[in-house]
Amino acid sequence: MEKKVRVRFAPSPTGGLHLGGVRTALFNYLFAKKHNGTFILRVEDTDQTRFVPGAEAYIVSCLEWCGISPDESPVLGGAFGPYRQSERKSTYKQYADQLISSGHAYYAFDTPEELEEKRKAVPNFTYGLATRAEMRNSLTLAEEEVQALLAKNTPHVVRIKMPADELVSFTDLIRGHVSFDTNLVDDKVLLKADGMPTYHLAVVADDRAMEISHIFRGEEWLPSAPIHILLWRYLGWADEMPQWVHLPLILKPDGNGKLSKRDGDRLGFPVYAQNWTDPKTGDLTRGFKELGFMPEAFVNLLAMLGWNDGTDQELFTLTELVDKFSVERISKAGAKFDFEKAKWYNHEWIKNSAPKKLLPFVKQAFSVQGIELDADARLEKVIDLIKDRCNLLPDFVAQGLYFFIAPKEYDLAAVQPKWTAEKAAFFEAYAMEIKDGLVGAELEEKFKALAAAHNFKPGELMLPLRIMLVGGKFGPGVFDILVNLGAEESTKRIHKAIAAFN
Ligand code: GLU
Repeated sequence: MEKKVRVRFAPSPTGGLHLGGVRTALFNYLFAKKHNGTFILRVEDTDQTRFVPGAEAYIVSCLEWCGISPDESPVLGGAFGPYRQSERKSTYKQYADQLISSGHAYYAFDTPEELEEKRKAVPNFTYGLATRAEMRNSLTLAEEEVQALLAKNTPHVVRIKMPADELVSFTDLIRGHVSFDTNLVDDKVLLKADGMPTYHLAVVADDRAMEISHIFRGEEWLPSAPIHILLWRYLGWADEMPQWVHLPLILKPDGNGKLSKRDGDRLGFPVYAQNWTDPKTGDLTRGFKELGFMPEAFVNLLAMLGWNDGTDQELFTLTELVDKFSVERISKAGAKFDFEKAKWYNHEWIKNSAPKKLLPFVKQAFSVQGIELDADARLEKVIDLIKDRCNLLPDFVAQGLYFFIAPKEYDLAAVQPKWTAEKAAFFEAYAMEIKDGLVGAELEEKFKALAAAHNFKPGELMLPLRIMLVGGKFGPGVFDILVNLGAEESTKRIHKAIAAFN
């Protein structure tokens, strides 16, 4: 029988959620939903030294914002809980013991100081095949001594004993056949002195306990795969081993190496999904959400980092992604992150969204600037007029503010050199023709007829009219602006501007 699809996103709560992490979550989610499976959030918090308060809640909130909430999680619970590894602490030791009994792991009593000495003395020291015989562990010490040390609760760790001269081979659903030479892999710690498992032991124990069918994770974990595979085998679970799917890296914009948070800081774009405030330093790192990305656009652009559906289509809803997703179409090569392209996705999403859908986002963008808008019907019309001009949600404020607040300043340089008393007279006359109920085309017709009567080409008058209403040389069709502002406000603005231009 085919194993039921159960996949997990297994972040460590160590800080903000990098977009690579969200993409891993997304691909897990897409695969689960595509196969009527289960998407699990498991919090890998066994490394207490790196634990950051608030990081778990932040991760949950990022997933929720993206619309890819898990089916089982520390918050929701589920039949395979608990979903925080720290709460599963008591389950891991038995596996370390089993590995010791079968000779695949050993106790190591080296103190941190001894290890430090060794690292100083031997460049690139690793604890493993070549060095384990020189260290203080249950492979080098006499059995009685080991028992005595254990009886005295001497601090120790448990390490995997990597076999000599073996090739660990497996099939990765993206990378195909992969193999690792065990001589090049060190004896990783499995159980720490505080009794906590390390990532390596916990990940294998929990992937089995939670009946995970496919492991989708970033390519940076590929070098750990041989350790995990050996653990699956040594623990007697080889038949139950999940399928491996190592996702391509997300690269810096120039393609040189993995995209890091520092690249974002350096190049001025976000790398985290949402704003993250480091609880220790209070430092704020800006996120895509707060910068003004729609969650749909963010999810869409992440999906395209390393995946496509085999056509030129670039815009996908989450539902379409679920429908079209396939592991076969994930590329092996790293995907360069291009912030301009990311903004393009957001622009397309804004442009293609109905004003009603954009309404809450736009209200929020104004609210952040201290402007509370409640005229929803009018705002929807404004949104419709300006959405093609917006890349990020706060652009709605810059592009739309004048609809609600009359310009305080004008781009005088653009009008004054050609401003004349005759033009002022034209606008005085035109202001009288603006009536509520007229549509844009009618207002334009009147404008043209009046311009002709005043011996002007309409083109000479359009820019001044725009600057009167908007303040600057931007915005949608000027007659649409007139309709939206209404006769009273429009004429007020025209009169005020005439005074300022004269
Ligand atoms: N806890 C690991 C991380 O922080 C998970 C790696 C895996 O999925 O196996 O990314």
